[in-house]
Amino acid sequence: MVRSFLWRACRGALPSGANLLRRVESIDPTCCRCKVMVETDIHALFECPLVQRIWESAGIDVDVEWGHITSMEEWTRMAISHGDASTSSRWAMINWSIWNDRNDIFHGREGNAPITIVECADRYRVNYLQASSQEIPPSGTNLVGCHQNWKAPPIGSWKVNVDAAMFEGVGSGMGVVIRDHEGSVVRAAVQHVRQRWNVDVIEAKAAALGLSLAYQMGVQSVILESDSLQIISILKSGKVPLSYLGNVITEIVEWGSKFNCISYSYVRRSGNEAAHGMAHYMPISFLTRVWVDMCPDAIADIVSSDLMSDFF
Ligand SMILES: [Zn+2]
Repeated sequence: MVRSFLWRACRGALPSGANLLRRVESIDPTCCRCKVMVETDIHALFECPLVQRIWESAGIDVDVEWGHITSMEEWTRMAISHGDASTSSRWAMINWSIWNDRNDIFHGREGNAPITIVECADRYRVNYLQASSQEIPPSGTNLVGCHQNWKAPPIGSWKVNVDAAMFEGVGSGMGVVIRDHEGSVVRAAVQHVRQRWNVDVIEAKAAALGLSLAYQMGVQSVILESDSLQIISILKSGKVPLSYLGNVITEIVEWGSKFNCISYSYVRRSGNEAAHGMAHYMPISFLTRVWVDMCPDAIADIVSSDLMSDFF
């Protein structure tokens, strides 16, 4: 819930007065709290003097802490990169609570006192953390240390997520998304080919493509991440099979040796959605398509969602 709220906020998709006015001409876009300013998303969650009181009762001086914010996306990035996990999750919960209170007022109900809004956020956060710490880990696997959600790499490293797609009777696809420590996309790529290799070969080809793109960027420290346990296990073991797959593995290892630091990481499918999306992205061309410092809109949603899951 909180995640999808923030995700919409980052995409500028909250139904604030200003956003509604774009769709409905007859709407009054004035902030329902202060009744003075036009209600943009930033106004509703940050700039409104009455909202600043809510932040104050949470013990957060927004002006001192954040200064001038121009977009929710900017604010979210700042909140993620400047605070530890617990500060950023509290920040997220308070935003969500402020927005819920705003919806009450918007629909003619009475708003809550600032302290009540903050208490509600804190209570919800505690419940949420308790519930998630009780989650039962999936059984039947021996993937010690493997993670389920996408995690940003440490500062100075770049994470290269790769994935394969198979198009029945048509060909295969390879997807790559390279992100920095803030989770920003620096390269996104897709390559579709007519060959119908088996899935391991395509996964390996995607890995080679990912590393070649990272190499072209000139970065030195790379984490190659795939949801193919087979490929990551082979790369970690260093035992190259005597097959066509082995040739592609050798190619990956050669690319890998060009970096100062390379590691191979297995992630569950849920943490590899962005690369999965790229591998399946509009199979209309057999050329390699590369996006620099951005990614297609369809993937941007997944990237934001990955960023949110890094919060908690
Ligand atoms: Zn206002």
